[in-house]
Amino acid sequence: MPDIIKLLPDSVANQIAAGEVIQRPASAVKELLENAIDAHADDIRLIIKDAGKTLIQVVDNGCGMSETDARMCFERHATSKIKTANDLFHIRSLGFRGEALASIAAVSQVELKTKRDGDSLATSIIIEGSELKEQGPASAPEGTSISVKNLFFNVPARRKFLKSDTVETRNIIEEFTKIAIVTPRIAFSLFFNNKQLLNLPKANARQRIINIFGNAYNQRLVPVEQKSDMLGISGFICKPEFARKTRGEQYLYVNGRFIRHAYLHHAIESAFHELIPSDAVPGYFLYLEIDPKDIDVNIHPTKTEVNFLNSQAVYALLRNAVKQSLGRFNITPTLDFDDKPIDIPYFPKSKEINIPGIRINPGYNPFSDSSEKNTGDESLANRPGSIEWEQIMHHTEELGITQSGDEATKPFLQPSGEETSGQEKNFESQNFIQFRGRYIFTPVKSGMMVIDQHLAHKRILFEKYMELLGSGRQSSQQELFPVVIPLSPQNFMTFEEIREDLLHLGLTAEDFGNHTVIVKGTPDNLPEPDVRTYIENVIEQYKQFTVDLKTDKRTGVAMAMASKTATRYGKVLKKEEMQSLVSRLFACNVPGTSPSGRRIISIFTEEELTQRFKA
Ligand code: ADP
Ligand code: MG
Repeated sequence: MPDIIKLLPDSVANQIAAGEVIQRPASAVKELLENAIDAHADDIRLIIKDAGKTLIQVVDNGCGMSETDARMCFERHATSKIKTANDLFHIRSLGFRGEALASIAAVSQVELKTKRDGDSLATSIIIEGSELKEQGPASAPEGTSISVKNLFFNVPARRKFLKSDTVETRNIIEEFTKIAIVTPRIAFSLFFNNKQLLNLPKANARQRIINIFGNAYNQRLVPVEQKSDMLGISGFICKPEFARKTRGEQYLYVNGRFIRHAYLHHAIESAFHELIPSDAVPGYFLYLEIDPKDIDVNIHPTKTEVNFLNSQAVYALLRNAVKQSLGRFNITPTLDFDDKPIDIPYFPKSKEINIPGIRINPGYNPFSDSSEKNTGDESLANRPGSIEWEQIMHHTEELGITQSGDEATKPFLQPSGEETSGQEKNFESQNFIQFRGRYIFTPVKSGMMVIDQHLAHKRILFEKYMELLGSGRQSSQQELFPVVIPLSPQNFMTFEEIREDLLHLGLTAEDFGNHTVIVKGTPDNLPEPDVRTYIENVIEQYKQFTVDLKTDKRTGVAMAMASKTATRYGKVLKKEEMQSLVSRLFACNVPGTSPSGRRIISIFTEEELTQRFKA
């Protein structure tokens, strides 16, 4: 038998390595931007076409390369950044493995133009699937321009597994953002399909964050600054009231490198303990400086994972620094969260105070044996989370609630008193009591029905929105004085993704350039008076629903809009508003549960109430 083991040709080895380093357009973006930073550029342009599938180009004004280096840089393990194994413990540059360009060139068509300061001519190179196609002198400004075309053109399996343009674009923006945040001294501009999405001038750290995420961040950021022999910590945390339920603005860096580190993330989160709800995540932009010999960045090809020699000490220092900042800026707990409402007094000052009374049913005889006919209903209360809908629907009949389709599209706050159908009349005699701006109580045959007003409205709007999105009809909308709203680039891209759908739901907004939108109409009766916060909330919710709950786009849009447009807890409702709300709730297909699965209706059975008065 002959020997069978052979060394792989470089082109194959490079393609295998590319599998680890270059997984998607965003990974190539990261590597190219890092190279430009390592080349000490202070002006970097990123140009993207078709979510990076057609073109990723990075143009920098850094140190450039000689003719020989320009050819060498595409070889595997070719790097100018380290020379000996010992250098691995003193890494200051972002790159050091010398495999990014080799990997990129193995799976795409690359055009490189580069010129050093003082050289008279630039070098131009074209390389496709690791194969050199052209090399020669060219004219170009100082610095380097690398164009990566048709990524994975020769690896169809990879290309097929790329996500939709929106998802890949989102990933690119995220990689870009991670880098731009920590390099405020470098000017960046970002182009998507020939449109400039972002222009970041040179700035300080705070200004850079504001330029990326919008002016609103100016008030949100609290500085963190602490130095010890072992570790320097600087940057910002976001005030606790801006903590979100989606992971978003969590940016942690070591020596200028973005890292993922669950343990250190926990250190930061634990400093916020009791200042934010347990399911919310604080925002932060924190930069750690540590002696390179105290960390190991060479544990993963993408270099986003880092081992700390003394991670417990880093944990303690980081937690302490964040706590001190929170203390210094006198940040006290706030619980102003949408779904965890504060207890708002339910009598406005202007309102006449009536002596509370209980309406009683004079015909009701507590001693009559009524439990028999209600046996079926007991199960409703005894099994939390599983309401039997046939039973609930049975109550709707006694409420005299109409179930016509028209009810579902009637605006919630429109009183229904005008109508005089037999059923309406019956319904109007129904008693409703609002409790603490949160619950609506109404008696039904088997006991006392309690409805969560916010969740009920959410369900109503959700079904209405799903219908509108399905039919392509446009909802009527209120025209308002146009409001210009700068969004973070991520939120802007998400907004672009769902803009058409929002239009159908009465939210009219257009691209106003530089990741800003101009809003011309919003749905009626917004619970949030500030249009900007409203829009940001809708986008955040949409991201959360589509990412965490993995809903499809349409459901995500309907859910996000419903949850941010629904009337809030604390809103005092008039009797006819309660009537309309309950009537529209029961006209829904699924009146019992909110779109995200929370219970809307609960019944205290007569049995249960009687039980409470037993000796
Ligand atoms: P690494 O960054 O790990 O060294 P790369 O494959 O990314 O490996 O790059 C190889 C080499 O090419 C770098 O070490 C650097 O010398 C050179 N290089 C790459 N990009 C640039 C650039 N934009 N400007 C100047 N030199 C560059
Ligand atoms: Mg590199």
